Amino acid sequence: MNQAVNQPAPAAATTETAPARVNLRPLRALWPYVRRYPKLIAGWLGFLALSSASTLTLPVAVRYMIDRGFSHAQAGSIDRWFLILLAVALVLAFATAARFYCVSLLGERVIADLRRNLYDRLMRLDMAFFERTRTGELVSRLSADTELLRTVVASSMSIALRSVITVLGAATMLTVTSPRLAGFAAIGIPLVILPIVLFGRRVRGMSRNSQDRIADANARAGETLNAMHTVQSYARESHESERFAGAVENAYRAARKRVRTQATLTASVIVLVFGAIVAVLWIGAHDVIGGGMSAGTLTQFVFYAVFGAGSVGALSEVWAEVQRAGGGMARINDLLAEVPRIAAPTQPKTLPSASSAHPVGAIAFEHVRFHYPARPDTAALEDFSLTVRPGETIALVGPSGAGKSTVLQLLLRFHDPQSGSIKIDGIDLRELDPTQLRERIALVPQDPVIFGADAMENIRYGKLDASEDDVIAAARNAEAHEFLSALPEGYRSFLGEKGTRLSGGQQQRLAIARAVLKDAPILLLDEATSALDAQSERAIQQALERLMQGRTTLVIAHRLATVLRADHIVVLDHGRIVAEGTHAELVAQGGLYAELARLQFAP
Ligand code: ATP
Repeated sequence: MNQAVNQPAPAAATTETAPARVNLRPLRALWPYVRRYPKLIAGWLGFLALSSASTLTLPVAVRYMIDRGFSHAQAGSIDRWFLILLAVALVLAFATAARFYCVSLLGERVIADLRRNLYDRLMRLDMAFFERTRTGELVSRLSADTELLRTVVASSMSIALRSVITVLGAATMLTVTSPRLAGFAAIGIPLVILPIVLFGRRVRGMSRNSQDRIADANARAGETLNAMHTVQSYARESHESERFAGAVENAYRAARKRVRTQATLTASVIVLVFGAIVAVLWIGAHDVIGGGMSAGTLTQFVFYAVFGAGSVGALSEVWAEVQRAGGGMARINDLLAEVPRIAAPTQPKTLPSASSAHPVGAIAFEHVRFHYPARPDTAALEDFSLTVRPGETIALVGPSGAGKSTVLQLLLRFHDPQSGSIKIDGIDLRELDPTQLRERIALVPQDPVIFGADAMENIRYGKLDASEDDVIAAARNAEAHEFLSALPEGYRSFLGEKGTRLSGGQQQRLAIARAVLKDAPILLLDEATSALDAQSERAIQQALERLMQGRTTLVIAHRLATVLRADHIVVLDHGRIVAEGTHAELVAQGGLYAELARLQFAP
């Protein structure tokens, strides 16, 4: 297992600009999604057959209408042929609508499933993946790429199949109608196919490139919009606008190249197709004049030729679209193929449940060595050993970058150490299901995360099935009840995106309330570094004290009150434990702690 972690992280599939070699094979991955809906597929194909048959019948009806209806000049006969024509048109209308309904629904359903599956997989990927992948790109995969596929399943595939059927049907009927003229038409076909193949290849490469540029622009925008405070406080609005404009222009340029090639492709196809039709018509007109063919037959021939040529044109457009979607699906497949490195073993062990005789929440780090995947040469923790008994409070102190947050991350098993082991209640974390492990831990981060929802929902994130009373009790415990009930709509007040409608201290108390509600035996606290006013500070201290009671607590300490209250203090520097003991012992020893205490914990 350690070996696996030691491997250099593969470059994020999503951030790479792939070579211009895109094929349609990735689209095969859509089949399992499509296969789930046999009724829609059957409906689509059935109505496609009906609509194609009626399309191909129309010219025959027209021919009889012209040849028989006009030549006999009998009102009854011409009426009958007009009625037949109308009936064929009605069947065509019905079958087309039903086909459209089935295939569109199929597309929507498939893409909804694909989106859900993709998001589901993303949720389960490990932190190393999120550290090397930009969120904006992921959002782009979820939106732009799946949208591309929706078009393909809901329309392009349908148009392609329909066009192929029409082309084949029209070709057959052309031959039946006039083998001589059909022979001329056949010479034109290779002239039409050739540019499609040649230009199609170029479009393929370009489409992936332009999608990648869009993802870049989105990622840039996402990052910036999330940091508007910083952007505006540095007055970097114009700078950011220019940077985004640069990314957008890159995307535009890539798209322009693609569109140009596509436009040329379409124009070439139309010119060639209609050139061929005009030529055939010219020959046909001479045949009619010479008496070798009836006017109705020539009309029928022209209808088939137009249908066939139109379908070839449609195919060329759809072909480019399908190729673009091939690129999108390739990127989605890359994401779907990501295997979370942090996963439950096949037979996970179960953590013991708490009882008065056996309190739970013991933690043991044994000679842990760990480096982040992005920093294979620098250990964030080196020979780190720490034993915590249930209910104990351990304060982690040390200068910035010492490795304090890393300790918490490893305990949550966001990463696995390269050597050594981490155990909870005697069980190695790697033998546990990460979900069960994390159920046992409540984290109160330095920067609390508040979702764009109301207070009730935000606190309930700690325990999804908690009743309103439980939520309110948790908020009281966290000293949050007073300010929450004073909000315009109380607990139902929307807190703004990322909790912008709350003060820093209030956000922290809300995060504490969430942890109170979770009621886990192990508590991880990353104390906020920013100073709060005395009143807020006291409220938070009281809330935390209550929360810590009876729980094993690891706290990254920035306050004197916290280190004084801890059972044990661990001093970290450059990923190693440099001293341990109580506040008094450590101060007496002098060294790094005494220095930190003088600077950081001075009352
Ligand atoms: P602070 O008090 O400033 O939060 P810390 O003691 O919590 O610091 P850590 O965040 O644990 O320090 O970081 C320990 C080392 O690991 C630092 O050198 C840091 O640069 C590095 N590091 C942290 N997170 C990552 C990451 N995701 N990828 C690569 N290196 C990282």
